[in-house]
Amino acid sequence: MDIDETDRSSYAMWSLDNNPDGIFWTDPGGNILYANSALCEEIGYSMGELLRMSVLDIDPMVKGDDLGPEGKLSFPIRSGDITHMSSCHKHKDGHLIPIEVTMSVPRDDGRLIVCFARDMSEERRIEAKLDEEEQRYTVDRRKLMKAASTDFLTGAWLRRYFFKVAASEMSQAERHKAPLSLLMVDIDRFKEVNDRFGHNTGDRVLVKLCNVIANSIREEDYFVRWGGEEFILLMPGLDADGALAMGERLKALVERSNFDEVPQVTVSIGVALYRPGEDGIDSWVARADAAMYEAKNAGRNKVEG
Ligand code: GH3
Ligand code: MG
Ligand code: MG
Repeated sequence: MDIDETDRSSYAMWSLDNNPDGIFWTDPGGNILYANSALCEEIGYSMGELLRMSVLDIDPMVKGDDLGPEGKLSFPIRSGDITHMSSCHKHKDGHLIPIEVTMSVPRDDGRLIVCFARDMSEERRIEAKLDEEEQRYTVDRRKLMKAASTDFLTGAWLRRYFFKVAASEMSQAERHKAPLSLLMVDIDRFKEVNDRFGHNTGDRVLVKLCNVIANSIREEDYFVRWGGEEFILLMPGLDADGALAMGERLKALVERSNFDEVPQVTVSIGVALYRPGEDGIDSWVARADAAMYEAKNAGRNKVEG
């Protein structure tokens, strides 16, 4: 079957009008010259109304400034130029509809701009829902991980978690040439606390001490129960001086804290800066441990590094 020019035009117009995406034409000043049914339906105006409107009336992201000094839209200019952007249309009732719009000019004279506008409401709704679910999943995952990796009594990370994060922090520190410090914290004469006041009081003192420490470290630090009454603080970004200062601060804080049931609690702290290339986890922890014993030997309630 042959299709003559008249048929071709009428089929072309039918196809335009029945395209599921909004299609409209404007002059270079943005005045609407044609709008298909999908656009009319999408934004709630009749074709007659739209023909008296400008793109500025339906797309709040296009501003008067975009018209430039000659009152012409600055994009696209030549045939073949295609401008693609995310924007929105304003429905007659005022609500905004997210769209992806593609604009092009069929001819170099630039007299006509053809715009294809795809309603993205459903996609955006799905994206928002996915984001929400992903966030919920991340929070759940973090909660689960935390529950599985933290100590029931004190809320500090478990020793096995330390090995995981320490390995990753060590390689990060190496890659970014950033300092990384470790503080070994041991409660002084804790056996006496148990002996004098009982194990339950000892437990409560431990919990209180952990709260004091956990509340005074940074988000990026890891507070780990190394075992019994010994804790490790893994502190990314802290050099030797910073770690010693942090140790002094924590030591003073514990000393000043009121533990209600016992007269005073102090800690001895050993500090070791990670030495890339020299330290494995074990030797690094051993250096912090040795420094902590120096603090004990120096009379306790001390920081050594
Ligand atoms: P030092 O100053 O040399 O560290 O003396 P210390 O008494 O703290 O050290 P030692 O290693 O002799 O004793 C540690 C004590 O910590 C013994 C143990 O009963 C107590 N301890 C360890 N874990 C817990 C716990 O979860 N709860 C209680 N209440 N006590 C604990
Ligand atoms: Mg101790
Ligand atoms: Mg100990």
